[in-house]
Amino acid sequence: MNEAVKEVLVSENEIKEICQRLGAQISQDYAGKELVVVGMLKGCAPFMMELIKHITIPMRMDFMQITSYHGGTESNTVVFKKDIEMNVAGKHVIVVDDIIDTGKTITEVLNIFKTRKVASIELACLLDKPEGRVVDYTPKYVGTIIPKAFVIGYGLDFDELYRNLPFVGVLKEEYYQ
Ligand code: 5GP
Ligand code: MG
Repeated sequence: MNEAVKEVLVSENEIKEICQRLGAQISQDYAGKELVVVGMLKGCAPFMMELIKHITIPMRMDFMQITSYHGGTESNTVVFKKDIEMNVAGKHVIVVDDIIDTGKTITEVLNIFKTRKVASIELACLLDKPEGRVVDYTPKYVGTIIPKAFVIGYGLDFDELYRNLPFVGVLKEEYYQ
């Protein structure tokens, strides 16, 4: 365990099982379809690498990196740091992210993909914090639901640290107070 971690919420074994389950489900749902898996950098990386091992149908992958500034109103600005390289028109896209909280980031990302005329778009996320939601959105592929706490590990950072932890844990309060 790491000294910054108050408690482990999702163990490495549980994450493996989650990826097996979601990978099998995706492989079934997208059989015969042209699938592009788009990872949201940087948090997606460990989850996406484990998940795609369990996708048994042909697929392509690409990456996107955005910064989202949430203003006081509904006018959010998404700033691209990196866009995908592929043309996804007519393709079935699954966006992969570490966690969905308010739902604002993913809403902006989904809108971007809709303007690119994808055949379909869904979200696969390792963690869901439904208590934090301010935008009505229910992701199709969810690893596990967690309570409203600040978590680190398995891609999730605090000041860019802890992304490499092989599990998801709650950050000790004294680290951000
Ligand atoms: P939202 O759904 O609120 O727009 O944003 C989700 C993003 O906020 C995630 O991709 C992640 O970067 C960040 N985030 C939300 N909750 C947590 C958390 O508990 N820990 C960490 N490290 N990042 C979080
Ligand atoms: Mg993120």
